[in-house]
Amino acid sequence: MTRHTRVVVIGGGQAGLAAGYHLRRRGLDFVILDAQARAGGAWQHAWDSLHLFSPAAFSSLPGRLMPHQPGETYPDAAHVVEYLRDYEQRYELPLHRPVRVRGVHRNAEHLRVETDSGTWRADAVVSATGTWWRPFLPAVPGHAVFRGRQAHTVRYRGPEEFAGQRVVVVGGGNSGAQIAADLAPHTRLTWVTRHPPRYLADEIDGRALFDAATARRRALDAGTGDTGGVASLGDIVTVPPVREARDAGLLKARPMFTRLTPDSVQWADGTRTEADAVIWCTGFRPALSHLAPLGLRGPRGHIPTYGTRAADEPRLHLLGYGDWTGPASATLIGVGRPARDAAREIAELLGT
Ligand code: FAD
Repeated sequence: MTRHTRVVVIGGGQAGLAAGYHLRRRGLDFVILDAQARAGGAWQHAWDSLHLFSPAAFSSLPGRLMPHQPGETYPDAAHVVEYLRDYEQRYELPLHRPVRVRGVHRNAEHLRVETDSGTWRADAVVSATGTWWRPFLPAVPGHAVFRGRQAHTVRYRGPEEFAGQRVVVVGGGNSGAQIAADLAPHTRLTWVTRHPPRYLADEIDGRALFDAATARRRALDAGTGDTGGVASLGDIVTVPPVREARDAGLLKARPMFTRLTPDSVQWADGTRTEADAVIWCTGFRPALSHLAPLGLRGPRGHIPTYGTRAADEPRLHLLGYGDWTGPASATLIGVGRPARDAAREIAELLGT
């Protein structure tokens, strides 16, 4: 059976909800298709101790402030899930769950969205599928021979399952620093980063990151040069647990090892550190495989865009994947503006 709507939003995390909010405001007929069984997008899979790097009021989607979480300056992931659940109910967003989009196809008249429970025909599509679903693992020799446990950030739940073990955490970003701080008191931790850890100044949180990303976009758009954006400030937001572990001397980073052996990691000088587990906090890639039938991918795997609009398919918008789909668009506070722009462009395209 084929159903019809004007706009299909793929993904019901924060980016899909922000798109829904603005499509609703423009009076467009749309649906949101989400592969998860419940509200909350990737946040429902985060590790137990994960806290936002901004206070609640600076982590809000359009239209509704995230309420303060009692006892927490920086809300935890469960609080975000609750906020997103409330948000979609409050705005009566038309979520269909669980529905996985398998492929988006096109012809001159419309876009065809094939899912595991039927087909939708639409005049425009917003892809908002996030990155959590495509964990990235660097190619390091010995991956296959290591006999201990290997896990990516997406599989990490908390320190209990590693208590007393020799754990190597790889990655100098926020996930690596937070997970290293989480594990340090309970394990024999080795933290490994490609470059020496670059902490943001203690007073800088997500608000400043949003401002830096916006200033960079504006400067690039105005042709006045690259301000460096967020990367110029540092890599690691010093949320309280990271700050405490760092100040207690628990977060000493070593440069990257050269290979894994069956029971250790081996350093450049040939020495080894025995390990029971390696946790790869090595980032994510955009989850775009459902768009493969459109053949839009550029050289680095990204789809070239003007703002959120795919350069070679004006009926397709990409939302929430990173700065390439709008400054700070992969954050709660940052996705509202590109979502608004995408809804405006879609309304113009559809003549509504
Ligand atoms: P997601 O939350 O991943 O939602 C995408 C949805 O699309 C999911 O429900 C998924 O199941 C669905 N989907 C995927 N593929 C398909 C398909 N083919 N068909 C149908 N549905 C599909 N941001 C902040 O603002 N503050 C923070 O403190 C912060 N901390 C972070 C910490 C970590 C460890 C990480 C990884 C990210 C953090 N972020 C933070 C960034 C960002 O806010 C989150 O990654 C957020 O989950 C991105 O939202 P999203 O809607 O783009 O994607």
